[in-house]
Amino acid sequence: MNNRELIDKLNSEHALLHEEWGQIFDTWDAYDLQYAARLANCISLERFGRKIYFRGIIEFTNVCKNDCYYCGIRAGNSNCARYRLDEEDILKCCADGYAHGFRTFVLQGGEDPYYTKEKICGIVHRITEEYPDCAVTMSIGELDRDFYQALYDAGARRYLLRHETADAEHYASLHPAGMALESRMRCLKDLKEIGFQTGCGIMVGSPYQTSEHLAKDMEFMTEFQPEMVGLGPFIPHKDTPFRDEPAGSVDKTLLVIALTRILLPDALIPSTTALGTAEAEGRQKGVLAGCNVVMPNLSPMEVRKKYMLYDGKVGTDMSAEAGIRTLRAQMEEIGYEVVVTRGDFTYHGRNQAGE
Ligand code: SAH
Repeated sequence: MNNRELIDKLNSEHALLHEEWGQIFDTWDAYDLQYAARLANCISLERFGRKIYFRGIIEFTNVCKNDCYYCGIRAGNSNCARYRLDEEDILKCCADGYAHGFRTFVLQGGEDPYYTKEKICGIVHRITEEYPDCAVTMSIGELDRDFYQALYDAGARRYLLRHETADAEHYASLHPAGMALESRMRCLKDLKEIGFQTGCGIMVGSPYQTSEHLAKDMEFMTEFQPEMVGLGPFIPHKDTPFRDEPAGSVDKTLLVIALTRILLPDALIPSTTALGTAEAEGRQKGVLAGCNVVMPNLSPMEVRKKYMLYDGKVGTDMSAEAGIRTLRAQMEEIGYEVVVTRGDFTYHGRNQAGE
């Protein structure tokens, strides 16, 4: 079968054989990308209409105990000025976001032991109490099952934890000893079992990534059936061991996005900041290839430049308000309407509120 026939097969069977995924990633061309992106965009339009879900992201700490080779806020980066937002700062970001109409808050940070289970659950509890109509999404890395359960009990309902790669050796080449794919997978399984809407994902074009690895990523997602998938190009950061590695390609990222949409028609797939950083129109292209979420940054202006996961991150020089305005305009330019509701899409285009 040629690649376009394989894409059709994926659309009807929602799975491909390992070799078939491998063939696509080894041999795709611009026409295959266009074919996949159009199909993915049609699937999104059918499920979600011309609507894009906005989620406000609050980057509440850049302190991290991990030393991931790709990440600008890794523990070993002594050039990174560290910050932590306290409970009041975080609640203030939520209040500002709420005033702009946001009904989902994403709390993301490094793996920072300062935020103990009690502390972070207290914050989540306060947000869900003060904003009962809002969803809280967490993205704070690998934790014990008890910790995840406590976050759920405090009211968080979604968790983003990219698997980064489904190949153990590749995982080991991106992370220092002490971090292993096995424990990442344990976390993802725990999160799903607890009842979180769970997000996995990868950086496209991360160092050493092969077609074989991408095939494994697609197979993992076929089996895991994540509710959300985070996909962006790898972008080097000057203070990391991967400073001289090439950035991932935008087109390849769009291909992975499109294939993921065809594989998982109901998934929430953000058009990421990394995609918008790699190319000015990256986020619009992401939407036209199947993404249905964008995540404007609600972090306070003073800390934005300090949450530099990679060089050149867009949006760090503008206020939350300006960032929201820019993203809204970008989406309207391609004919999409921005929606700020919780957007719990699970069944056939209806969210939990029955909208
Ligand atoms: N500590 C949290 C949040 C990490 S940052 C966690 O571990 O989940 C969120 C994502 O940013 C990471 O999962 C990674 O895939 C992505 N990221 C980190 N460094 C990057 C880089 N240099 N280029 C592109 N994406 C990067």
